[in-house]
Amino acid sequence: MNLLEVTNLKKSFGELEVLKNISFSVSESEVISIIGPSGSGKSTLLRCLTMLETIDGGSMTYCGEQAVNDESGVPVYADKAVLKRIRSYFGLVFQNFNLFPHYSVMKNITDAPVHVQKRNKEEVYNEAKILLKKMGLEDKGDCYPYQLSGGQQQRVAIARALAMKPRMLFFDEPTSALDPELTAEILKVLRELAAEKMTMVIVTHEIDFAKSVSEQVIFMDGGLIVEKGKPEDVIDNPSNDRTKAFLKKMIEK
Ligand code: ADP
Ligand code: MG
Repeated sequence: MNLLEVTNLKKSFGELEVLKNISFSVSESEVISIIGPSGSGKSTLLRCLTMLETIDGGSMTYCGEQAVNDESGVPVYADKAVLKRIRSYFGLVFQNFNLFPHYSVMKNITDAPVHVQKRNKEEVYNEAKILLKKMGLEDKGDCYPYQLSGGQQQRVAIARALAMKPRMLFFDEPTSALDPELTAEILKVLRELAAEKMTMVIVTHEIDFAKSVSEQVIFMDGGLIVEKGKPEDVIDNPSNDRTKAFLKKMIEK
């Protein structure tokens, strides 16, 4: 089953058309990497897919449930109850972790499952402990974000997303605020999640990682999907000149 289907998604900020016509789908257990130059619309795409921004055209369907249809020519969002359920299908991990600074690690992870999902507190806490252990942070539950390294904070952010039991996870450049050593920590966690068959859409500049972990790679430029396919094709043997130029620049870095 497709966990996500996006068709002809369009998004503008005033006169600026940021996403022009984006279509792709994500099947269960698939890892998709989105690569592309700065300003190409990658973050805006993730913000639209996670409904932090409304779209101006197109349709989006999650786990078979339509969140937005454009049968009338304009996008129409489903009602509140349906959107609430659809939001529970996915999680988002940001570039800058976005932890609540005044909450302990434990509270960062358990707050939404307890107060938004209204789940049993004890059960949520026990699961949070297991997630912290999995992230190598079993002794950090009482710490506050400022007491942790960037890599540790990002692992808390991943644990927080997993605590909601999403069907799929979106990551927006999860390592770009980190130095190489801490980047490796996070990439290791992402590889483990991929091995556990977590469905993930990852915006990243880590080309080698994208190549080794993804079923599909999407190259975006200027608000369009320029090229999409298997990593062997898009990364090793790109057919579009813009993809070639971008990858050449990334390799020179
Ligand atoms: P990327 O993540 O690929 O670097 P973004 O999605 O952040 O690209 O940005 C794509 C374009 O949209 C850029 O030109 C950016 O300036 C513009 N943009 C992003 N968010 C906003 C906003 N809230 N208002 C106006 N323009 C925006
Ligand atoms: Mg971005």
